[in-house]
Amino acid sequence: MKSISFLDTAVEYVKGVGPKRAEILRKEFQIDTFHDLLTHFPFRYMDRTRYYSVQEINSDSIYYQIKGRIIKVEIIGKMRSQRLVAVLKDSSGEIDLIWFQGIRWIKEMVKVGMDVVVFGKPAFFNGSYNIPHPEFELAADRKNEIDEHLQPFYSTTEKLKAIGLDSKGIRKIIRNLISVSAGNIQETLPDTIQSRLKLIGREEALVAIHFPTDAAILEKAVSRLKFEELFFIQLQILKSKVGRQKFIKGQRFTIVGDNLNQFYREYLPFELTDAQKRVIKEIRFDIGSGKQMNRLLQGDVGSGKTLVALMTMLIALDNGFQTCLMAPTEILAEQHLRTFSKMLGQMPVNVELLTGSTKSKNRKRILESLKEGSLHIIIGTHALIEDSVVFDKLGLVVIDEQHRFGVVQRSRLWQKAEVPPHILVMTATPIPRTLAMTLYGDLDVSVIDELPPGRKPIKTFHFTDHDRLKVFSSIKKQIAEGRQIYFVYPMIKESESIDLKYLMDGYESICREFPLPEFAVSIVHGKMKPAAKDFEMQRFVKGETQLMVATTVIEVGVDVPNASVMVIENAERFGLSQLHQLRGRVGRGADQSYCILMSSDKLTNDGKQRIATMVKTTDGFDIAEADLKLRGPGDLQGTVQSGVLDLKLADIIRDEKLLKLARDLANDILNKDPILSNPVNLPLVHQLGRMDKHAADFSRIS
Ligand code: ADP
Ligand code: MG
Repeated sequence: MKSISFLDTAVEYVKGVGPKRAEILRKEFQIDTFHDLLTHFPFRYMDRTRYYSVQEINSDSIYYQIKGRIIKVEIIGKMRSQRLVAVLKDSSGEIDLIWFQGIRWIKEMVKVGMDVVVFGKPAFFNGSYNIPHPEFELAADRKNEIDEHLQPFYSTTEKLKAIGLDSKGIRKIIRNLISVSAGNIQETLPDTIQSRLKLIGREEALVAIHFPTDAAILEKAVSRLKFEELFFIQLQILKSKVGRQKFIKGQRFTIVGDNLNQFYREYLPFELTDAQKRVIKEIRFDIGSGKQMNRLLQGDVGSGKTLVALMTMLIALDNGFQTCLMAPTEILAEQHLRTFSKMLGQMPVNVELLTGSTKSKNRKRILESLKEGSLHIIIGTHALIEDSVVFDKLGLVVIDEQHRFGVVQRSRLWQKAEVPPHILVMTATPIPRTLAMTLYGDLDVSVIDELPPGRKPIKTFHFTDHDRLKVFSSIKKQIAEGRQIYFVYPMIKESESIDLKYLMDGYESICREFPLPEFAVSIVHGKMKPAAKDFEMQRFVKGETQLMVATTVIEVGVDVPNASVMVIENAERFGLSQLHQLRGRVGRGADQSYCILMSSDKLTNDGKQRIATMVKTTDGFDIAEADLKLRGPGDLQGTVQSGVLDLKLADIIRDEKLLKLARDLANDILNKDPILSNPVNLPLVHQLGRMDKHAADFSRIS
């Protein structure tokens, strides 16, 4: 056990640290222990251990040291694009050294015929490598020919620098720690995994990642530690899932009774898709098992999740339980109420709506009927979370468009029943598989991967303001055929008043273009009173207005099957998943639908790519992948707070294969030893314990 406590020793006991530096290390980087310091990895290295030949250069992510002769110096280009190019030649080939700044000065220094040592990071341009702004020395001046190992560089902060812990200072204390570590760093991965994946040992890897003797050992160290990182996250997630399934009891819903049967026979307006049938089966199995269900229902916009939710809720009812459906906005909650009331027809099921704007008299009545048990289904916004909302017997919670809810809000719903209710989280935000594995890895996942029959894929076009008249005239044709149209404007919090003006200007010009009495235009935005919003929404739903001008308040869930055109103004200002959500508002009926992305002529590269992606594909998963690539995982909604993506080395996009491997192997281990009680798995338990220090308990968040 000695070796385990070594890594857990307080960082102040590292030679050269002491209490004062330890405190700042903790404050700045949460470095508490030897282990934490050892896993403060370098962010780059300089390799002065050897000379590379020009021909060996094959990466733009590491630094190279090259020795050669300057054979040509010239200044190319004019004005701002002017640059100095010096050609360096060694026995293997030639490479361009390029300076964009300090050209005059460099020109004085660099002369044809000089023998030099250059050091820098290559760039790949027009099919070959060059080295921009290399460090530069006369070969004759070079004193220490080479270093023993690659030089590590560490991230630091102003406060750390102030106490001598700049990159060099950190390098020094890590070296001190490593000099006493030999034999004290325990292996965390089982032999079987290590030998199967040909991973180097933990101690070797931790030393090598700080002081690698060459690039090859560095690569081995990184891949070993990356795997370890992914593996333990997966082990942690999967273990908490096993724990929940094993130890948390749930209500057993075994009865399929009158409500579901009657609904199925008399009210179901269409055949279920095969995907819906499969998912309902999965859910029924879960809620009948005696364990608590914690399920994520993923399905692209328009795939029919609401119906699945309703049928699940009827099963809860058949078993004598109340249920609630929580939506992120009032509009969506109201829409769910209308859908439910319509679908349930004359069935003896009581449904009520509770939102922030429910009047107090009504509110009192609703809360009383909920507490006493006569209210079966309550639909609402986060108003449902408040303490005043008390159920008689809550058995199932459905959360729509889950990414809008915080972790804390969701967990408060758990506490509204003695035995935790079953949870069904529905999301239309497509999540790339790798991200889902990490983010929702402890939830069971059901996927509706099929749209109801007869849907035609939405056609998407990109236009600029010059084409506006053309756009208007084709919209008029659609309206003549009886269709309805959305116009969506960006509304981003920081610039609300500007955006509001922009929206109102747009509204006015649309009213001019589509005048009464032939046309009628609705408008909905976040600054309106709920009653006014609802009134406008209703006019559109009932077909009294042909055009709807709105902000993204309609992004989520609004369902008007007769709407066939979605015009998105300033499309370049929206994120990809938002564009996809908005587009999903059309294409819900059998008619051909269109999405028109309006933008200015000038687009950023990112903006261009987002729009191109939308035009190219309607597949939510493709879009999610593109989104992840464009923005990086840290930016995706809901991932920032979660902390699960706080990876030090691995990257869930680039290391997808490794992630899957890690998950499979973690699964194997838990299959054989679900609670890790086998002594051979003790090192795994210790490592998980160390991680718990920083991590939240993900099994309880949904
Ligand atoms: P989402 O998954 O985006 O929440 P909805 O549940 O709102 O999708 O369903 C979209 C539309 O498809 C609704 O108008 C709904 O009535 C309809 N729908 C759902 N299931 C089917 C089905 N099996 N066949 C035909 N239409 C369906
Ligand atoms: Mg929906």
